[in-house]
Amino acid sequence: MRYAALASGSKGNCHAFCARGRALLIDAGISLAQVKARLAACGLDPCAVGAVALTHEHSDHRAAVGVLVRNTDWAFLATKETKLAVELAVGETIPAPRWIELQAGHAVAWEGFQVRPFSLPHDAVDPVAFRVEAEGRAAAVVTDLGHGTALVADHCSDLDLLVLEANHDVDMLRNGAYPDALKARILSRVGHLSNAAMADLLARVVSPRLRSVVLAHLSEQNNHPDLARLAAEEVLRDLPIALHLATQAHPMGLELALDQAG
Ligand SMILES: [Zn+2]
Ligand SMILES: [Zn+2]
Repeated sequence: MRYAALASGSKGNCHAFCARGRALLIDAGISLAQVKARLAACGLDPCAVGAVALTHEHSDHRAAVGVLVRNTDWAFLATKETKLAVELAVGETIPAPRWIELQAGHAVAWEGFQVRPFSLPHDAVDPVAFRVEAEGRAAAVVTDLGHGTALVADHCSDLDLLVLEANHDVDMLRNGAYPDALKARILSRVGHLSNAAMADLLARVVSPRLRSVVLAHLSEQNNHPDLARLAAEEVLRDLPIALHLATQAHPMGLELALDQAG
């Protein structure tokens, strides 16, 4: 299974998993043209995409849904509440035959992938994150959460790859230029994960299986990549786990290869 962070941050999010010649996207917060260009830049075939799983209705996660409905035949994986909220926001209905209904806690199969949504504490109608398994590999994409619940930690255990939010440095956010109401929203239990909260959650889910961690959804205003990286390195120390950063501007890809012995 291959993974690519096509874009990550408040201006648009999109992640891709590719296995057996098929690709599944997580979220659609960048344009279709950008999705195709960035997949190609990561060595993935844009024509392999057949579905997009939606985490929640915030614009940085669903901005392209209207275009995708009209210009592709992709399926949409979403909970009922998120589907309705996205449809309302983009002014487009997802055709019933192209909707795969999700329920938090229940895995669905799509083209050789097992996709398991699980609930997150975030200020959206029915926010979920995804655990994705294929070809014997397991990964999770976990962003847009105010704090790390036990349920989230459970779904992040026993993974090969964890993509985890490191949204802000609490001091940078507190002392920064954001309006107070927005600061309060981000800092709340249903806001975004700070570097410190990320490190705390990471420490709870590190396992011998874990090979790669990708820090994601970094704020360009209220975080610095070095601060996020340092917080994660404190936890990972000498463990044989590669640390990467997903960014807004540049896509990055990873191969989740089976070990030689595996
Ligand atoms: Zn977001
Ligand atoms: Zn959000």
